[in-house]
Amino acid sequence: MHIKELVLDGFKSFGRKTRIPFYEDFTVVTGPNGSGKSNIIDGVLFALGLARTRGIRAEKLTDLIYNPGHAGDDAGRGGGTKEASVTVVLDNSDGKLDRSQVVNAAGSDDVGDVSEIRVKRRVKETDDNYYSYYYLNGRSCNLSDIQDLLAQAGITPEGYNVVMQGDVTEIINMTPYQRRGIVDEIAGVAEFDAKKEDAFGE
Ligand code: ATP
Ligand code: MG
Repeated sequence: MHIKELVLDGFKSFGRKTRIPFYEDFTVVTGPNGSGKSNIIDGVLFALGLARTRGIRAEKLTDLIYNPGHAGDDAGRGGGTKEASVTVVLDNSDGKLDRSQVVNAAGSDDVGDVSEIRVKRRVKETDDNYYSYYYLNGRSCNLSDIQDLLAQAGITPEGYNVVMQGDVTEIINMTPYQRRGIVDEIAGVAEFDAKKEDAFGE
């Protein structure tokens, strides 16, 4: 399974709806400093709900909404409702996730063609509050539904699907015991350790 396309709309520096294609084996994003390369990765973390664990670069969720004043020209952000959304389109043409798994997670039969898994997250800011929504193939659902589904495809919040800046150095400086934890994560054992601990806790 791989990311086929990313659609950013009002997210960070992407004030206009932007589609970014990803290829099956290798995609490189290049551009000058500050042009938004890392914002693309932040978009993936945001949409898949991995933001908290993998260090997205924002203090609060609403900082992720496109702000025309960000580049320094003091235009500021006007009042009223503002929103950002990111859609991660995953290629599921190999059927890694079957239809019933997707239907189950979405809580609806109406998920369209599951050869594509579309995970969308939207954050909306009003004058005094903000709201966050998740969608799976167009159906509104909870983050935990999406996370359970993605876990079945080997994508977990603590997983190493994303190697962030500094991760390599961190891994080198770990104790062997800590490093073993990474192997457990990748092998999928850690998930059961966590569930076991939760169960004992209850
Ligand atoms: P580098 O090569 O230095 O790593 P980069 O291409 O990774 O650069 P990013 O960090 O992705 O660049 O982008 C930073 C830019 O995003 C900055 O110019 C910043 O002003 C802009 N930016 C961040 N948040 C917002 C926002 N909410 N609204 C508008 N622009 C934003
Ligand atoms: Mg960068």
